[in-house]
Amino acid sequence: MTWRASVLTLFPAMFPGPLGQSLAGRALQTGVWSLELTDIRDFASDRHRTVDDTPFGGGAGMVLRPDIVDAAVQAVADGRPLVCLTPRGQRLTQADAQRFAAGPGVILLCGRYEGVDQRVIEARAMDEISIGDYVLSGGELAALVLLDSVVRLLPGVMGAAESAVDESFSAGLLEYPHYTRPAEWQGRRVPDVLLSGHHRAVTAWRQAESERITRERRPDLSTPAAAPWQSERTSS
Ligand code: SAH
Repeated sequence: MTWRASVLTLFPAMFPGPLGQSLAGRALQTGVWSLELTDIRDFASDRHRTVDDTPFGGGAGMVLRPDIVDAAVQAVADGRPLVCLTPRGQRLTQADAQRFAAGPGVILLCGRYEGVDQRVIEARAMDEISIGDYVLSGGELAALVLLDSVVRLLPGVMGAAESAVDESFSAGLLEYPHYTRPAEWQGRRVPDVLLSGHHRAVTAWRQAESERITRERRPDLSTPAAAPWQSERTSS
């Protein structure tokens, strides 16, 4: 069954953009997921095709009108989760990506200018999601980021099924570092344990590195929850 993404935007030409390439692009071509664009401007009602207006209370910038946005939402709403990309939202996490990937698809609303009238966000019970603590000029790049994080998790998109299992965040930890050939490069050797052929020692080393790096870089993530590659070590 095809996972369906609908995007409401004033700049539909920004899609699929980078998602037309590589893994996501191939999956789009083969029908693992679909992408439907709605130009919010098509729902404007005056002959100038106006979608925004000045903010009540004054101040700089323009705000997307609730009636126009609502009409655009109405045209695609079908029970899929409805997300408004906004720096004021909850930060996007790997758990969100997994939750969206497990569902039928998603409808994404991209803001522009100062943002979207809050009443339509509330009336449509949208999920407000941010991709990080910085301000973009529009929701389109944020929508592409969210879609990339979800599409790569869809069945059949990534090569080896395990590659999504022990990567960063899926177990509440950052991933261990990676090395490939040559075993020595510019005087730097790959950690000996990785050349040892001892599967258990490798697993234990990776778990320890994962915990150390998470503690050092992201103490906010450190949870005692066991990583998937930890079970072997704890049971031995
Ligand atoms: N005035 C707003 C910022 C508007 S930026 C504020 O201060 O909160 C214009 C649009 O870009 C937003 O409506 C949103 O859709 C998008 N956007 C900007 N930064 C974003 C972020 N970090 N995450 C998700 N969307 C973002």
